[in-house]
Amino acid sequence: MSAIKTAIDELVIANRIVAAEKVCDAFGHVSMRHPENPGRFLLSRGRAPELIEASDIMEFTLEGGTAAGNGKPYLERFIHGAIYESRPDVQAVVHSHSYSVVPFSVIGEKLRPIMHVCATIGPDVPVWDPQVNFGDTDLLVSDMHQGRDLAKALGARTSILMRGHGSTVAGASLREAVYAAVMLEVNANLQLKAQAFGPVTFLTPGEIEKIRARQNKGRPGEGFDRAWQYWLRHAGFPTDE
Ligand code: MN
Repeated sequence: MSAIKTAIDELVIANRIVAAEKVCDAFGHVSMRHPENPGRFLLSRGRAPELIEASDIMEFTLEGGTAAGNGKPYLERFIHGAIYESRPDVQAVVHSHSYSVVPFSVIGEKLRPIMHVCATIGPDVPVWDPQVNFGDTDLLVSDMHQGRDLAKALGARTSILMRGHGSTVAGASLREAVYAAVMLEVNANLQLKAQAFGPVTFLTPGEIEKIRARQNKGRPGEGFDRAWQYWLRHAGFPTDE
């Protein structure tokens, strides 16, 4: 099977997983860098992740221009292109509006890892506010100026919140990005519950670093791969191990 065919099939599965895990509803999207051309990325035409088929996957330049495929692209494709442009290490990006995360984009209280499996989201999750550089907008990332501003705020991190809107996560692989997107929602949900009872003990930066180092050395059947196999079944696909 060609690298591009394999990549498209995995990207379709990733979209179905984020839908099955309720990270994305009608909105949100998952992309991956083109496996053979780092100056391009793969992303569906504009439709809900749960509905996406291989024929929906299009190819874009990092500036968001259509390079292959047909259909009306997502308005917010600039999120993806700008992150691939600024981060050569990033191979996949998930943008979502998952519900437990949104409160942390508006309350001035930081979203931070509280549970070991959530260390992947990173020790520091900033909030991007388009009001700072663009004034009143519709809050969407609708051009490369806004995309690059978001990518700059993300910096070398894994996750960023977007004020009054949602979040974006970047991964060194498609499986890592999907894992981080799911765990960002899991952590937000747990943190909201824990904080209702008072001050929370968060993971320390050192603990986060050790957990992530172990995850990054995970072999098949461990870490991101074990989660991927579980989510495959949840989303109605056969496991591939
Ligand atoms: Mn959005």
